[in-house]
Amino acid sequence: DRLVGAVADGEDLAVEAALRPRDLSEFIGQGRVREQLDLVLAAARARGGTADHVLLSGSPGLGKTTLSMIIAAEMAAPIRITSGPAIQHAGDLASILSSLTEGEVLFLDEIHRMSRPAEEMLYMAMEDFRVDVVVGKGPGATAIPLELPPFTLVGATTRAGLLPPPLRDRFGFTGHMEFYEPAELERVVHRSAGLLSVEVSAEGAAEIASRSRGTPRIANRLLRRVRDYAQVRADGVVNREVAARALEVYEVDARGLDRLDRAVLRALLDLFGGGPVGLSTLAVAVGEERETVEEVAEPFLVREGLLARTPRGRVATPAAWRHLDRTPPAPAAG
Ligand code: ATP
Repeated sequence: DRLVGAVADGEDLAVEAALRPRDLSEFIGQGRVREQLDLVLAAARARGGTADHVLLSGSPGLGKTTLSMIIAAEMAAPIRITSGPAIQHAGDLASILSSLTEGEVLFLDEIHRMSRPAEEMLYMAMEDFRVDVVVGKGPGATAIPLELPPFTLVGATTRAGLLPPPLRDRFGFTGHMEFYEPAELERVVHRSAGLLSVEVSAEGAAEIASRSRGTPRIANRLLRRVRDYAQVRADGVVNREVAARALEVYEVDARGLDRLDRAVLRALLDLFGGGPVGLSTLAVAVGEERETVEEVAEPFLVREGLLARTPRGRVATPAAWRHLDRTPPAPAAG
């Protein structure tokens, strides 16, 4: 339920469908992945065949689901969407695979979280378009081979390194999604504002983009909160000042840090002189669980170059002192 969290919440799911780019030309940023994918799809279309299996890796909210839908649209194929955690038994996967139609795109989100037996079934399905369905139990069990129509698997994972090599190797193409540049997020904001009929100035879009942590999902979410503010407290137009004031109300600062992120940094600077300090001590100081500090706050602080994890503990960088408007202590003499 964090405004700057990258994972989709209920409201995101309700509105995201309307904001999704429908084809590659509408998809903003990720120039390299877009160009590579464009080639893979154009070649498959020219051959009149099915596209190779595609693996998309990257943080939540960068557009993996969107790209999988675009792949299906560009191939004029239907798409089936499921996820690793939803496939607990090989039988779950067998029933999905056996109901695919020729050329269909199967989007498997969080593919690294599939069960082992399902994963092994997937190897054969990807390579030979065939699965062995086991009927019965014990010594009487028999494997019935089942032919599948050619299909395109689009797997998504937060890190390609999490996948077992035999699975990774069965993808014809891997696209690594990067965090977005501010200028790209400005375009995302303008595009979404147009679809939501919100008037946004160039500076207003820039203000939202700079607080969106390189993530389109967050940019779209902040835009919705800023729109609320513009309607209730201003004349409906999102300019720089309205965006900044709105996001101040929601405690998202100029760099996209929220209350928790700042509490961690403040404790590190004010209580421990910038560190090094152990994670557990830092967590107690901010009144949070160790895991919350480590998994929720730290990754972005590290990415932003505000905090470093060292063998001796957490350390604030000079940028952290500057960001919180504080002067680092003078180095000890000698
Ligand atoms: P998750 O891993 O949590 O499923 P995801 O990587 O699949 O996230 P999407 O659901 O595809 O992310 O994207 C989240 C939102 O961001 C969508 O509403 C989509 O419209 C928007 N979005 C993502 N990438 C782009 C882009 N390149 N251009 C415009 N909008 C984008």
